Amino acid sequence: MKLALPTNYKQYVCRTCGSSDVGWDAWSEWDSATNQEVLRTGFDDAHCFQCEGETRTEEVEITDASEIAYIDEQRAKLRAEHHAVAMLEAMKEFVAGVDAGKIRSKRTYAKFKDIIANTEV
Ligand SMILES: [Zn+2]
Repeated sequence: MKLALPTNYKQYVCRTCGSSDVGWDAWSEWDSATNQEVLRTGFDDAHCFQCEGETRTEEVEITDASEIAYIDEQRAKLRAEHHAVAMLEAMKEFVAGVDAGKIRSKRTYAKFKDIIANTEV
């Protein structure tokens, strides 16, 4: 299954000073499964850490080539992580099949090929 990631390059900036060092008010909660705090609800009220106060934000397009390259690199890592679980399961199945003396290489080959075809790293 492909991981749907954005293809655009946008960010939010402070309407007063133009800084991208902004955030929004939010509520979080504890997730026992991951044992960490997770975002529950985000609100419209924004804060600028440069102005050190409330602000309104504006969506802008990122045009800096080095920032875009960094974003593309991070998205490639996310895609690789997303596919790692399926690849590991397929490899476990292949190893188990070999260990059991079964000839399953064509099926496993097809599974690996499908995963590779759906992996855009
Ligand atoms: Zn600001």
